[in-house]
Amino acid sequence: MDKTLKQANGDGRRMQLVHWKDFYVLEDRDLKGRGLFAAKNFAKGESLYVFDYWSEEIMPMHLTNHSCDPNGRFDDRGMLIALRDIEKGDEITFNYLLHPIPASPWNFECRCNSQNCIGWISVESSY
Ligand SMILES: [Zn+2]
Repeated sequence: MDKTLKQANGDGRRMQLVHWKDFYVLEDRDLKGRGLFAAKNFAKGESLYVFDYWSEEIMPMHLTNHSCDPNGRFDDRGMLIALRDIEKGDEITFNYLLHPIPASPWNFECRCNSQNCIGWISVESSY
């Protein structure tokens, strides 16, 4: 598969302000666009990042794709927790329908390829 590794923010100005050392971003033009990938192993139950959509222009959250069978889920404190062991190189995902986020692309065809994929993510299906 031809994937191009790109930094989340090309000029690197704000790289140090978020924990990007734990993640990297891949862009795949044929599939889902950009995605957030683990740059290290995370054990089940480990915190990935905090729910934060606003602090920086580009946050890990902005780059995390939806999955109907995600490997992350936000807990009560707004921390994204690994639902299972995540290996370096795995894509980080969470279920957008469980965690409404601002400016979420609510109507899109899901291509997560999981067994329980609902196929189409829309406002209607979440209520
Ligand atoms: Zn899906």
